Amino acid sequence: MLRPTAIRMAKNFEYLIVGGGNAAGYACREFVAQGVGAGKIGVITEEPVAPYERPALTKAYLHPPTAKVRARLPGFHTCVGGGGDHQTPEWYNEKGIEFIHGRASAVDLAGKTVSVGDGAVAYGKLILATGARSLKVSQFGVTGDDLRHVYYLRSEMEAAELVKALESLGSGKVVIVGGGYIGLECAAALVGWGLDVTMVFPEAHCMSRLFNAELASWLEAEYAARGIKILKGDTVAAFVGEGGQLKSVTLKSGGSLDCNIAVVGVGAAPNVEYAPGLALEQRGFAVNDQMQTSDPNVYAIGDIATFPSRYGGVTRCEHVDHARKSASQAVKAALGLNPEAYRYLPYFYSRLFEYTDAPIVFNFFGDQAGECRVAALGEKSVGALWEKDGKVVGALLMGSPGPSPEAQGKLRELVESSAETGNPAEVFAKAGL
Ligand code: NAD
Repeated sequence: MLRPTAIRMAKNFEYLIVGGGNAAGYACREFVAQGVGAGKIGVITEEPVAPYERPALTKAYLHPPTAKVRARLPGFHTCVGGGGDHQTPEWYNEKGIEFIHGRASAVDLAGKTVSVGDGAVAYGKLILATGARSLKVSQFGVTGDDLRHVYYLRSEMEAAELVKALESLGSGKVVIVGGGYIGLECAAALVGWGLDVTMVFPEAHCMSRLFNAELASWLEAEYAARGIKILKGDTVAAFVGEGGQLKSVTLKSGGSLDCNIAVVGVGAAPNVEYAPGLALEQRGFAVNDQMQTSDPNVYAIGDIATFPSRYGGVTRCEHVDHARKSASQAVKAALGLNPEAYRYLPYFYSRLFEYTDAPIVFNFFGDQAGECRVAALGEKSVGALWEKDGKVVGALLMGSPGPSPEAQGKLRELVESSAETGNPAEVFAKAGL
């Protein structure tokens, strides 16, 4: 647990980070790597624990008790996923980085202070790393999501509560609401607990933000073979309880599913409301290629940053690789090191069923605009290309056990080289994949 500072008196930091998630942890790593000394860095955080690799929460954290690997703190503090120091609370103490516990409620850009509770913290340079929060289905008129055993998954505390419920459940039924990253990763983990798992989502296929129907059908067939049921084109209208305890869900189509536990993953909303003086675009703080917002003393990183896309226009990215890299970029810029422009090559991945001897992994690089074409690349793998103006702009590999590190490198090269398109199987073969 953290030993945070109480802020009865005004505090002042040369570099102040708002948010204590993974991006904040990677920003601390970069400050330390650049030799910024003790007492100069403060982190305002609501979470009771030091920054951790959030992707683990829907993967190894949820692995069944029989799994060889079950992520638990302090084992997955930042930066274990990025190959850096294991930044435990002791690490921050040693480096003289102070945590201030609470939620930042306002930023005074002219006075250069951030309000937290009844106090204010002053800054020289400010790095905003407040991430995103789960969208609640109650916002869409769904009732009962406050019942016991209906879970959203964003923080370690929420994941811990879910695991506690799973451990006391033994056997039973789970409904997963949503067919995106959280839905797929949680369904894959929870079926391993011997539970009867059903996914429900409104689209015609899973992972509709990235996959086309053909890619999705490959993955859905794997899910079906591993015992997960998928209800498409439908949504939950209500969670129904008895004595405050979840008993079933009612579907918009009129049906009903009994369940003991429900997990909801229907998207995220960036946390930006506390700094209305900064320019917004695509629901995030607009930043330049130095991650600098419309105020020159303020930087934004991770999920909340809307940055110039290498493909033209601007973009926002809710994935860990960008959180890590944008953190490093903003710190270098805040220190006046004039880093090269942030020309980020988007990278997303998922790892599913890792606790089995037949895991599924997909890796995607590039831009997902344009037409997507799929090719079978063997008995247990598929590849997909996204094409624009005769060039490959995005590429994905998915399979069981999934692409090797070498194949991932080749996939990245294929996209970075803007290779000519063609028959997808031939393009992959030419790239050595
Ligand atoms: P998502 O955007 O990946 O998926 C949202 C899903 O919600 C959609 O696929 C859709 O099926 C579903 N949906 C929308 N409205 C619905 C409704 N009314 N009823 C039922 N389903 C509905 O978002 P997520 O899975 O909630 O993930 C949240 C955030 O966390 C995202 O930013 C995601 O990128 C991030 N995340 C990423 C990873 C990864 O990169 N591997 C893993 C976990 C979470």
